[in-house]
Amino acid sequence: MNSRFTLYGLGSPVRITAAVVITLLIVLTTACGSGNENGAASDNGQKQAEESRNNNAAQGSAEQKNEDASDEADEPKLQVITSFYPLQYMVEEIGGERVEARSLVAAGVEPHDWTPKSRDLQATSNAALFLYHGAGLEGWVDDFLGGLSKGSSVVAKEMSQGISLITGEGVHVHGEHDEDGHQDDEHEHGENKADEQGNSHSSDIDPHTWVSPKSALILANNVKDSLIEADESHAEYYQENYEALRAKLEELDKRYSEELGTLKQKNIVVSHQAFGYLARDYGLTQESIMGLNPGAEPRAQDILAIAKFVKEHGVQYIFFEELVSDDLANMLAREAKVDTMVLNPLEGLTKEQEKNGETYLTLMERNLQNLILALQ
Ligand SMILES: [Zn+2]
Repeated sequence: MNSRFTLYGLGSPVRITAAVVITLLIVLTTACGSGNENGAASDNGQKQAEESRNNNAAQGSAEQKNEDASDEADEPKLQVITSFYPLQYMVEEIGGERVEARSLVAAGVEPHDWTPKSRDLQATSNAALFLYHGAGLEGWVDDFLGGLSKGSSVVAKEMSQGISLITGEGVHVHGEHDEDGHQDDEHEHGENKADEQGNSHSSDIDPHTWVSPKSALILANNVKDSLIEADESHAEYYQENYEALRAKLEELDKRYSEELGTLKQKNIVVSHQAFGYLARDYGLTQESIMGLNPGAEPRAQDILAIAKFVKEHGVQYIFFEELVSDDLANMLAREAKVDTMVLNPLEGLTKEQEKNGETYLTLMERNLQNLILALQ
């Protein structure tokens, strides 16, 4: 693969033959298909269906017990569905033993291309609270809310409310590299593809707020308010747990500010454009290979531009992430003769991370350590 992916004349104006471009696009298309998604999704579906059956059974027997027993019987927990992992983490931290939280997108599944099934509608219809991120992350959410069963009393809330969103031109990368001398027909072709593939995000909004501790603080506050509104009798409990989480997130924010503030290198090269809020809030510059959606196909000229950027700016590491293939980052790193390192967009846990007890907080701490290593 390496020999086929040869970039000519990076130091001088870039020349690339049509054959190389075509080969490159084929290689990249293959590399970017995350093969396990469908399998993981259907496994996940089965698991969810089973869980839902178990939950219903458990609820049934719990209700029976409540009728039979006296006040000592456990109160039923608040049923909360979240769209994806970071919100589930916050609900679990703040809700503690008072809630039962479940994320629609399960461990090991990349959320960008996920779409709900009827069983997800059913589970959400039966819940008390549905917390989703908004800002274009869940392109399916309007239809989903419209499809909830008529008798459902579930309350849906958008958790990104109050975060200053990144919109417009800043969201599109590599436009500034377009003078690099590629052919126009390739350009148009590439752009159309990117638009088709990128449509799980609404228009020009960057949805990846949660990768910055500063936005996480706002998300956590919204989660706390929603839990209290849905279950006022335990307001004090939720408030206490929230204060504990807030302290942890504030500590994280402080360390990000202090540690990243002292680093000389400010450029991070990443596979998908998930670190815009991190970059904005802590003074970094993000260069991405694939744009906002990790499933989108990168254009040949974008790859060339990034390889050139890496060389010109003395970038030492190219970051990749666990939920999508690292082929592309590896290929680029080989080409630019630099190393790769993980920078996690926190869109979900892998099954292994879930098993090992990793959380939003532990992964955010590892992100900071890797950023320090890469940028010092
Ligand atoms: Zn993303």
